[in-house]
Amino acid sequence: MKALIFNIQRFCIHDGPGIRTTIFFKGCNLNCWWCHNPESKKSKPELMFYPDKCILCLSCVKNCPESALTFAEREKKILYDKKKCRECFKCACVCPSEAIVKCGVYMELAEVYEKIIRDKDFYKSVGGVTASGGEPLLYSEFIRELFRKVKEEKIHTCIETAGCINWNSFENVIEFTDLFLYDFKSGDEKKLKEATGGDLNLILENLNNLKKSEKETIVRIPLVPDYNDNEEELEKIVDKLNSFKQLSIEFLKFNYLGKSKYKALGLPSPFKIFEDNILEEKVKFATNFLKNKGFKIIEGDKQNGET
Ligand code: SF4
Ligand code: SF4
Repeated sequence: MKALIFNIQRFCIHDGPGIRTTIFFKGCNLNCWWCHNPESKKSKPELMFYPDKCILCLSCVKNCPESALTFAEREKKILYDKKKCRECFKCACVCPSEAIVKCGVYMELAEVYEKIIRDKDFYKSVGGVTASGGEPLLYSEFIRELFRKVKEEKIHTCIETAGCINWNSFENVIEFTDLFLYDFKSGDEKKLKEATGGDLNLILENLNNLKKSEKETIVRIPLVPDYNDNEEELEKIVDKLNSFKQLSIEFLKFNYLGKSKYKALGLPSPFKIFEDNILEEKVKFATNFLKNKGFKIIEGDKQNGET
């Protein structure tokens, strides 16, 4: 059994309790404009080009069968023409400096399992493995088998999901998952649809099923400037989450970590820049707002997209 994975990060401390290995599955069924992992969206390998790392060896130019890479004499730089590229990844294979990389590899379950197990001693009793993405539940059968094996070693398992997927996918994994980190982006059906393509009713229905299952679930709200961080939008979130007050809520501060990735994928960056202290104020405001409405808030300094 194989899954498309774009990163396996060791020693993570923000994707669940303790020290963790986070598996980033590639592919997403939403399309949030503020996404910090734009390379996670497509369910196929992609080319990423970081010109700042280029040492101008010209190996990629010589090996590209489509002439999609050329050397600009005057500017002394490599030009990449995305339209000509056929994604054969020959350039990534010969690039010595990782200026060109292939993002996304189909990995066997046993290979992923080995990478989790090698850090078993670091997890101790609280840490473990987290499936993230993209939307990891697009790979629910793979995760079920992976977590089944991992649980045999008594390692803690966690899934970060946006929750906008058929309940069947949750059913596949629920038996072997200890914790769900459940993204909640908006309490406004129309605004959510427009900004992400997501279906609020499906997200709430799945959250309700998780509540009934009594599986540990933390609701995580990424605070997106000018989208969901004002009183009116927080009021809508409160309204929709009112029947979930037994669940803990965590706000994630907005950050701009994904900016260079948009450039590397040849995409325009969607981010407007906001002062850090303004973003921190927004987290404090939202925290107090929900606390005053009787919600349990996990306070900390986590940022959206942080791993
Ligand atoms: S992936 Fe293949 S076609 Fe595209 S730029 Fe690289 S070598 Fe050329
Ligand atoms: S192979 Fe890599 S380092 Fe060499 S020119 Fe191409 S991008 Fe630059």
